Amino acid sequence: MTTTSVPSRRETPTTTASATTAAATPAEGSAPTPAVIQAAGLTKRYGDLVAVDSLSLTIGEGDIVAILGPNGAGKSTTIEMLLGLRTPTHGSIRVFGADPNAKATRARVGAMLQESHAPETLTVAEAVDLVRHYYPYALGVEDILRRADLLEKRDNRVGQLSGGQQQRLNFALAIAGDPDLLFLDEPTAALDVAARHLFWEQVRGLAAQGKTILFSTHNLAEADALADRVVVINHGRVVADGTPAEIKATVAARTVRLVTDLNAAALAALPGVRHVELAAGESREDAHPMLVIQTSTPEALLARLFGAGHRVEELTVSDTDLETAFIHLVGAAADPSDPTESAS
Ligand code: ADP
Repeated sequence: MTTTSVPSRRETPTTTASATTAAATPAEGSAPTPAVIQAAGLTKRYGDLVAVDSLSLTIGEGDIVAILGPNGAGKSTTIEMLLGLRTPTHGSIRVFGADPNAKATRARVGAMLQESHAPETLTVAEAVDLVRHYYPYALGVEDILRRADLLEKRDNRVGQLSGGQQQRLNFALAIAGDPDLLFLDEPTAALDVAARHLFWEQVRGLAAQGKTILFSTHNLAEADALADRVVVINHGRVVADGTPAEIKATVAARTVRLVTDLNAAALAALPGVRHVELAAGESREDAHPMLVIQTSTPEALLARLFGAGHRVEELTVSDTDLETAFIHLVGAAADPSDPTESAS
């Protein structure tokens, strides 16, 4: 049965090309490409815990999308629901217009999850070959091993691979079926910096072939390096969605260090202030400790302090690194009672 679908899929580029051409004609305007993933109102509860909370997501053909969020944000649960591995408590999912578990959908999807289930006694080449047989349009073993930088490990047993090699094997298994849609859950978690950059090159190569890629990360720099769209989630909700440049502009902040007569809570309630904490080594017992403030508008903050006659001493203003700014963004968005959220 599957062989009958091989020619039709391999003819798809012609069909897609003409459809794209038609969409690009002035008469058609900028018609969007059909959605590869369409999820609406996705919710997943584990007992009392709401891991994913009314999440809606539409991803088009050829998009490279990062799901960015801190640990526990709901990234893996979202990906596993989109893969049909977990059943949503509420909501609907269509992948290539069908249920994620439909046979025709699964044939076009590859996934690299955090846990691998490759049998430990097989060699790397045997594990790759085994997975190839589940797919109607699989790549050749050599090709897969080369793309995953595993040619030299082909005869090693799966159980003897290092963490980084295991991660590369997971990537090999994910691309074995030459999928049109690839899910990568924290794909570089076990990789060192050099291996991470090699991996990014591989993903860019797949993107250049027109694959649709959805990957999760807690690393804003990784999202920036690979994605053309970043969906920031926290506590199972989308808190920001845009291009990497837009997300960086949203999280961009300056760090203001000063000693003042206002306390941390009063500062946190001022407009544009995202976060206030004691500087390292300062004591709460101290009446006027050095404070570290994250704000998108340091000039306005200082004008307000000076204008109201507050004490401002030992002042420095500097750029906040992206990771710190991101952590404060999701922190503020996570807690509706946090005064820094409405203020920023
Ligand atoms: P992320 O991938 O962003 O780290 P997860 O989707 O793994 O987040 O987890 C989201 C939340 O759901 C976390 O609070 C986690 O502890 C919880 N969770 C995940 N899987 C289960 C499970 N099988 N049973 C109960 N709670 C779970």
